[in-house]
Amino acid sequence: TERKHAQVELKSQAITDFLTGLFNRRYFFETAQKEFSKALRYERPLSVIIFDIDLFKNINDNYGHDVGDQALAQIGDLLRNTIRNVDISARYGGEEFIILLPEMNCVNTEVAAERLRKKIQDTPVDVEGILVWMTISAGVACIDESMSMKSVDQLISKADQALYEAKRGGRNRVCLAHEGHLVAFNAL
Ligand code: GH3
Ligand code: MG
Ligand code: MG
Repeated sequence: TERKHAQVELKSQAITDFLTGLFNRRYFFETAQKEFSKALRYERPLSVIIFDIDLFKNINDNYGHDVGDQALAQIGDLLRNTIRNVDISARYGGEEFIILLPEMNCVNTEVAAERLRKKIQDTPVDVEGILVWMTISAGVACIDESMSMKSVDQLISKADQALYEAKRGGRNRVCLAHEGHLVAFNAL
């Protein structure tokens, strides 16, 4: 019925990022907390990828904020077409995105992040005839048998540190967070 439909619509708006159509940050955290508890309880792997578009400010400066917005929206499309159904992808901040990957271990997640990095690098987005090329830097963190993680916040913070390392290492690359140290993966 119409009322039911309106309720569903409202619920979906409350968990969605308007620009990209991905989940919003709040819904991401809710879900991530649940998945984290499950992963610990059943001793299952769980991974997070955080990525940030490289030098995005240049895109706004060169083409304008509207083109920047549409480029972000198209990153949303690309993510939806790339990730598995069980993965939760969200807009984490302005031009930062986060993906939660249940049942994925470190090695596979690193490969997935690298594939995503390559795909974005190789696929310009077409904004009303303007081809916009982008690259991303990504940080990967995971819980598996080698890692003792106490909270999902800690997991995300590890991924964030790895992302920072990827930026510092020269951008357009994926870094994996390890207990105590960080390892760069396949720069360019
Ligand atoms: P870095 O490689 O270090 O990430 O460089 P950067 O330029 O991407 O990073 P910085 O944090 O300096 O700038 C991010 C820019 O992203 C600044 C801000 O104007 C832009 N931005 C953030 N959110 C949005 C948005 O919703 N739409 C548009 N068009 N731009 C946004
Ligand atoms: Mg950026
Ligand atoms: Mg940023």
